[in-house]
Amino acid sequence: MSEESTHGFATRAIHAGQEPDAATGAVVPPIYAVSTFKQDGVGGLRGGYEYSRSANPTRTALEECLASIERGVRGLAFASGLAATDTLLRTVCAPGDHVIIPGDAYGGTYRLFARVHAKWGLEYTPVPLGDLDAVRAAIRPTTKLIWCETPTNPLLGIADIAALAEIAHGAGAKLAVDNTFASPYLQTPLELGADIVMHSTTKYLGGHSDVVGGALVVSDAALGDELAYHQNAIGGVAGPFDSWLVLRGIKTLAVRMEKHCSNAAAVVDLLTSHRNVTHVFYPGLPDHPGHDVAAKQMRGFGGMVSFRVVGGESDALAVCERAKLFTLGESLGGVESLIEHPGRMTHASVAGSELEVPSDLVRLSVGIEDVDDLLADLRRALG
Ligand SMILES: *Cc1c(COP(=O)(O)O)cnc(C)c1O
Repeated sequence: MSEESTHGFATRAIHAGQEPDAATGAVVPPIYAVSTFKQDGVGGLRGGYEYSRSANPTRTALEECLASIERGVRGLAFASGLAATDTLLRTVCAPGDHVIIPGDAYGGTYRLFARVHAKWGLEYTPVPLGDLDAVRAAIRPTTKLIWCETPTNPLLGIADIAALAEIAHGAGAKLAVDNTFASPYLQTPLELGADIVMHSTTKYLGGHSDVVGGALVVSDAALGDELAYHQNAIGGVAGPFDSWLVLRGIKTLAVRMEKHCSNAAAVVDLLTSHRNVTHVFYPGLPDHPGHDVAAKQMRGFGGMVSFRVVGGESDALAVCERAKLFTLGESLGGVESLIEHPGRMTHASVAGSELEVPSDLVRLSVGIEDVDDLLADLRRALG
């Protein structure tokens, strides 16, 4: 084991892949805003760099850091989470293959399966992943991949990563986990047997709502090479400035996640006792489906909270519009708190499908502001 791999999470987040610059001593990796690199004679590459779609030093720093914080051997950075997912699907699946996806997958992921890859002959079955018998029953001889999100967006459904890995491997398939909601600070799927971790780095890893990006991390070097080949061949790579922003965000992930978790716990306390709230979805609640699995495989319950309000869709929309400090907007995982109506916003693309979400549902991304200010804003918004 290298010295680095024995370091704690925060140390790896701040240092992995980020040795001070050899030429200048710069303590953070510079933004290599460059497309091509001088060769010292044909094929004489300095440090392996040739053209920035294939590799760029700022992106390399991020990719090494991603691998370290997810406990993998290879990280790859993409222009968005969906670009990462698309590259993964085109690497491990072919027309006629089958994928199991969560019954409440992220809307954009579902759309990628249903409207894009289905056209090219990739078959998929939405299954509630909390029900392992249903997962086993959905396996086909052609199943190549189980796509798992845990916790899910927006209902915070929990899936047992170790159990799904066993089912996938027993069927000769791979398990991919979208780890966006938990972040590697709270959950490391590769250590639980998953083959691939995917991130929308737009969310907690970036952490400041100022960049769109994606990532894949794997524990098998050969799979890493195949993914890297497709990353370059397809071309949806993260640019140097975006890579730098994500790398900068990751440095504070540990302290941010602690505060996201404690603020969310206080928000959940308020919501569970509020007369205008009929149901709260949060993996930290003892009666939340999958709570025991979440407590086993996560190191905290995260900053995402959803709830249903008395009075149906119109009241849910009114709560979203009355909130002030909780900014009305899509996305999640930034330092600022956000509120949204999944049915009309993030999950509008699954309306009418088997993944439709309740119309009285409100989703919060609890930020790291002062908790009393957040609670006061929510109390006012709830009326
Ligand atoms: C945002 C998100 C994605 C998609 O990522 P982009 O960076 O927007 O492409 C995928 N999965 C989850 C859980 C997300 O929240």
